[in-house]
Amino acid sequence: MAMITLRGIPASPGVAIGPAWLYHKAELAAYEEQSRLTAEAERRRFDDAVEQARSQLDLLYDKTVQEAGEAAAQIFDIHKMMMEDLDYLESVEDNITSQLYTAEHAVACTGQEFAEMFAAMEDEVMQARSADIRDITQRLLQVLTGGQSQTLERSSVVCAHDLFPSDTMQLERGLIMAFVTELGSHVSHSAILARTMGIPAVVGVSGLAEALAGAAGAIVVDGSQGLVILNPDQQTLAEYTARREAYLQERMGLDAYRDRPSRTRDGLELEICANIAYVTDADNAAAVNADGVGLMRSEFLYMNADRAPDEQTQFAAYRAVLEKLSGKRIVVRTLDIGADKVPSWLPLPPEENPAMGWRAVRMCLDHQDMFRTQLRALLRASYYGRLAIMFPMIGDLGQLRRAKALLEECRRELEKEQVPMAEKIEVGMMVEIPSAAILADQFAPEVDFFSIGTNDLTQYTLAADRLNDKVADLFDSAHPAVLRLIQHTAQAAAAHGIWCGICGESAGNEELLPFYIKAGIGELSVVPGKVLELRRALSHIDSSSL
Ligand code: PEP
Ligand code: MG
Repeated sequence: MAMITLRGIPASPGVAIGPAWLYHKAELAAYEEQSRLTAEAERRRFDDAVEQARSQLDLLYDKTVQEAGEAAAQIFDIHKMMMEDLDYLESVEDNITSQLYTAEHAVACTGQEFAEMFAAMEDEVMQARSADIRDITQRLLQVLTGGQSQTLERSSVVCAHDLFPSDTMQLERGLIMAFVTELGSHVSHSAILARTMGIPAVVGVSGLAEALAGAAGAIVVDGSQGLVILNPDQQTLAEYTARREAYLQERMGLDAYRDRPSRTRDGLELEICANIAYVTDADNAAAVNADGVGLMRSEFLYMNADRAPDEQTQFAAYRAVLEKLSGKRIVVRTLDIGADKVPSWLPLPPEENPAMGWRAVRMCLDHQDMFRTQLRALLRASYYGRLAIMFPMIGDLGQLRRAKALLEECRRELEKEQVPMAEKIEVGMMVEIPSAAILADQFAPEVDFFSIGTNDLTQYTLAADRLNDKVADLFDSAHPAVLRLIQHTAQAAAAHGIWCGICGESAGNEELLPFYIKAGIGELSVVPGKVLELRRALSHIDSSSL
C-alpha cells in the first residue's frame, strides 16, 4: 500500500508509532421525535438525565484532577454550569411543552440551536464553547438513549473526527499513544489536555477517516511537526523510530535537571520557580523540583465558584500549597480580577477599556471587605510555610501604601485574636505598569521584592492589547523599550538590596536569559512544564563572559 502523509496542526509535541484506533462517539439508539407520553413525563425523563449527567461530570472531574490536574479538570465544571444554564434548560423544556417532543429530540434541537449560536460568535473563546455545547448534548442523549461509549483495549493511536474533553478523559490514559483528529484547533480543550498529559497530538487533519480506511499496520504521528503518516515504508519507520528515541532521550535528559541546582556553568545561582493557579498545580511544581512558587494567581482559585470565597476556604487553599512545597517560598498574588478575569459572583459593569480599568488592587482597595478577607486568610496561612504576599497592578505609591496599611491592620486584628502567624512575611509588588518600572527607585525602599509582569508591562508599554490577535506582532516582550524597563527595575532593586524576579511569560524565553542575568534578575517564574528546560539552559551559560 502506498505511503500517505497527512498534514495537520501540531497540537502536542512528541512522536508515536502504533496501530490506529478509530473512535466513534457512542452509537445512539434511534429515538422518536414526537412523544407518546405526557409533557410532564418527558420533562421528568429530562430532569433525570440531567441528574445522571451531573454525576458523570463529577466523576470525570475527579479522574481529570488525578491525571491532568485541577486546571484541566475545570472544563467539566464549566460543562456542568453550561448544562445547568437556565436558557439551555428552559429551551429544552419549552420544546417538550410546546411541541410535545420527546426529551431526546428536545435536547437535540436545543443543542443544535445553541451550538450554532456560539459558532457564529466573533470571539474565538465563545466559538470554542460550541464544541462544549455539543459535548453536553451528546452526553444527555447518550444517557437518554442508553448508548455506550467505546473502550480502548490496547495501546493505540486514537483517531477521531473530533474529540471532546469528555471523550479524551473517558479513555484509559496508559493506552493512549497519541491523538489525531480531523477537527480541532491548537487552543481546543482536547489539545490543551493532550499537552497537559504529555501525549503527542495532531489536530485539524482533513481526510483522516477516508485515508485510514485504506491503511494497514502502524501509523506514525509527529506531534511536533503536525504530520500523520499512514502505511509508512521501512525507511520512514526507521527514521521515526530514531526520532522517537531521540525525543524520549531528550525528555529523560531533562529529568536529570530535576535535582540539580539552578545555576550557571560558572556557579551563579538563580531561582527558577513555578507559576501556579490551582492548589493541585503545586504538585506539578514539586514534580520538577521548582525552587519555589514565583506567582500564585489566586484569582483562578475562585473564577468558577458560585460565590465569593470566604476566609476559611482561602486559608485552606493557601495552607495546602505552603504545605505541599514546605520550606520553599510561595509568592501569592492578591486577587487580580477585572479585565479578562471576571468571576461569576462579582458581576462588573462593562467598561470601554477594561485592561486599563477598575481591576486588581484598584478594585480591592475599593472593595475592602473582600480584600481584608483575602489578607486575613493569607496571614493565617503564613504560619504553615514561607509565604510572600504580592500586590498586582501597583501604579503609584499611594496604592502600595494603602494596601500595606490594610495588611498591617489585618495583622494587628489577628494578633488580638491570638492567631499564630509567621513573624516575617515578605511583601512585594508586581512591576507591570510602566509608571512602576520608571519610578522603581521610589518603590524599592517600601517593598521586599519586585516581580516583573512582562505580559502586562509589554501590553502597556507598547500599547498592544495582549488578547488581540491583530496586534500580536506588536506585542513583543523582547522589545528594547520593555527590556530597558526591566533593566531599570532590576537596577533599582539592586541599589536598595531587594530581589527582583520576572513572572510574565517571557521569563521562559531562553534567548533573553543572558540579558536577564546581566541585568541582575535573581528569579524567573514559569509554568511548571518549563522549569527543567530553563534550568538546563541556565547551566549552559557562563555569566562571567556576558
Ligand atoms: C503579567 O502581567 O506578566 C503577569 C504575570 O500577570 P497576568 O498574566 O496574570 O496578568
Ligand atoms: Mg498582569
